[in-house]
Amino acid sequence: MSAEPNAAASAEANAATGAQGSAAPSRPMPEWLGPDAGEFYEGTRHREFRVPRCPDCRRVVWYPRAHCPYCGALELTWETLPDPVGGTVYTFTVVRRHAHPFFAARVPYVVAWVDIDDGPRVLTEVACADVDALRVGDRVVLDWEPQEAFNLHTFVRVPS
Ligand SMILES: [Zn+2]
Repeated sequence: MSAEPNAAASAEANAATGAQGSAAPSRPMPEWLGPDAGEFYEGTRHREFRVPRCPDCRRVVWYPRAHCPYCGALELTWETLPDPVGGTVYTFTVVRRHAHPFFAARVPYVVAWVDIDDGPRVLTEVACADVDALRVGDRVVLDWEPQEAFNLHTFVRVPS
């Protein structure tokens, strides 16, 4: 038996687990979402949560789009939410199993819809010491997870 099949099997096993030597698996990142979301991602590089707001009806438009879906205005203006950015858990789930090696190493973790104060409802991860203690209506605060191209918005539960 040559070494090649073993090497191929090893590479296949690494691909299946996401392992590359001793390096930890990396987080899968969203792809750059184009010109409508560019200002948002640029803001994350400065740890600023930027949202588009309609200058006519004053509503925050989320997800970012080129126009206002509420009144039809064709121009939106970007603003930065004041720091610290707080929010309230609208609903959530606790992920206890995951096939991807990065997320499998994080279980159990919380994925939630969070209502940002004077901002949009966003899908995000909420860090909390005890996932089983989290409740709808709990307060959270924005945190940033550093990434190569931009920072990823996450939230942390505020102890009550
Ligand atoms: Zn509008």
